[in-house]
Amino acid sequence: MSPIASVPIAAIATAPGRGGVGIVRVSGASLSILVRRLFQGELIARHAHLLPFQTAEGEVLDEGIALFFPGPHSYTGEDVLELQGHGGPAVLRRVLQLCLDAGREMGLRIAEPGEFTQRAFLNGRIDLAQAEAVADLIEATSEAAARGAMASLSGVFSRQVNALADRIVHLRMLVEATLDFPEEEIDFLEKYQARPTLEALSTDLRRIIAQTRQGVILREGLHVVLAGRPNVGKSSLLNALAGDEIAIVTPIAGTTRDKVVQEIHLDGIPLHIVDTAGLRETDDPVEQIGIARTWQEIERADVILHLQDATAEGEEALDAGIAARLPPGTPVMKVVNKIDLVAADDARVADNKARIAARNADATAPDNAVLHISARTGTGLDALRKALLDIAGWNPGAESPWLARERHLRALQQAEEHLAIAATHAAQDDRVLDLFAEELRLAHESLSSITGEFTSDDLLGEIFSRFCIGK
Ligand code: GDP
Repeated sequence: MSPIASVPIAAIATAPGRGGVGIVRVSGASLSILVRRLFQGELIARHAHLLPFQTAEGEVLDEGIALFFPGPHSYTGEDVLELQGHGGPAVLRRVLQLCLDAGREMGLRIAEPGEFTQRAFLNGRIDLAQAEAVADLIEATSEAAARGAMASLSGVFSRQVNALADRIVHLRMLVEATLDFPEEEIDFLEKYQARPTLEALSTDLRRIIAQTRQGVILREGLHVVLAGRPNVGKSSLLNALAGDEIAIVTPIAGTTRDKVVQEIHLDGIPLHIVDTAGLRETDDPVEQIGIARTWQEIERADVILHLQDATAEGEEALDAGIAARLPPGTPVMKVVNKIDLVAADDARVADNKARIAARNADATAPDNAVLHISARTGTGLDALRKALLDIAGWNPGAESPWLARERHLRALQQAEEHLAIAATHAAQDDRVLDLFAEELRLAHESLSSITGEFTSDDLLGEIFSRFCIGK
C-alpha cells in the first residue's frame, strides 16, 4: 500500500519530564528537504549520525543522534526522522521548534495524540488490533499485561482472527458461486460439507472468545464491589487486601459515606475494589446519597462481595434483604467476616478450603459461595483472593495469549451470533442459501472490524485520540 499523502507531523516522543535521552520525532511523505535544511546534507538511511542540532543562525541547541528512516520501511510507513538529544523539557521544546521552523514551508505541524501510530495503521504497517496493542503496551501496569500486549502487537491475536475470517470467506465464496449457478444449488450444503465446516468454525470461534475474555480481564481488570450493612468490616477488608490504610475504619456505623476505590493486582490482574457506604435505612441525607451511589456501583460490578458479620445476631433479615436486591446476573460471594470473634474458626477455615476444592472440581458450582474470613487477622484472605479470580472467570492455568479490549470481545460475539443464525438456515435446506451467505458476510464483517478493515472513522478517531502524544 502506498503511503497516504499527508502533511508532515512532529512531536516530542519521550515522556514529559527529565530523562537521560529525549526524542523528537518527525513523519511525512518526504522529509529530504527538512533533513537538508537541518543538517546541510543527506543522512544515510538507518544510520546513527552524531550531529549538532542548530538553528539557521548557527546557535547549537543540543548535540545528539539523528536517525533517518525513509518510507515505507519506517514506523509510520512515511519518511521518519528522529532526533535523540538530552531529555530535558526546555531543550526538547527548542529542538521541536527547530524542526517546526525548518519544516514551515512543508506545512509541518505538531502531531495529534496517536497520530504516528494512526499513520502506521492507515499505511498498512500494522492493523487496528496491533495499533491498539501499542497503546496497551505503553499503559500496561503489570508484567502479565505487558506480555499480553506484546503478543497482540506481534500479531498473535490478529492472525487468529484473520485465519477465521479467511475460512468464513472461503465458505462464502463457495455459496455465492453456487448462487450464480442455481441449477447446481440443489446439494450445495451436502457437496461442500457446509454444516460440519460451519460447526468447526463456530467451535474455533468460541475458543478464541474464551481466550479473548481472559485478555479483556487482563487489560481492563475487574470491578469488585464490597457491599453490606454498616460496620461489617468492608473498609477493613479493603485495607487488608490493599495492605494499606486507605479507607477510614471506625467502630461508628456509617463512616464510609462515599465510595473509596483501590486498585490492586492479583496474579497480574488489576482489581478495582470499591468500598461503599454501608447499606441501611437512614434519615441522614448525606448518607442517603452515599447509599444511592452504592447501588449504582453494585449495578456496574463484575463481582460483588456481600459482607456479613459473624457476630451479628438478628441481622439475617437485613442481610437477606440486601441479597435479594443484588443484580441477578452478577456473581456474588457471601463473605462472613470477623470469624476471629467466634468460636470454631478452625472449622470454618477448613470449610473455606472444602468449598474452594468443590468449586475447582465442579466448574458448574453455584456462584453464591460462602467464605469465612477475618479482615483483622487475615484468616481466609488467600482463599478469598483465589475465589475472587475464579468467580470472575479468570483461569490461571489457561494461557492468556493476548491482551484484548471489550470492543474485540463484542465483535467476536457478534460474529458468533451470525454463525449461529447461519447454522439455523443451513439446518433447513438449500432454499435459503442467500440468507446463509448473508450471515456469513455479516460474521466476516464483524471479525474484520477487529483488525480495522471495516471500521468507521468515528471509532478510529476515538481509538487514536486516547493515545499519548508522540506515539
Ligand atoms: P464498614 O463500616 O463495613 O466499612 O466496617 P469497618 O471496616 O469500618 O469495621 C467496623 C468495625 O469492625 C471496626 O471497629 C473494625 O475494627 C471492626 N472489624 C472489621 N473487621 C474485623 C475482623 O475481622 N475482626 C474483628 N474482631 N473486628 C473487625
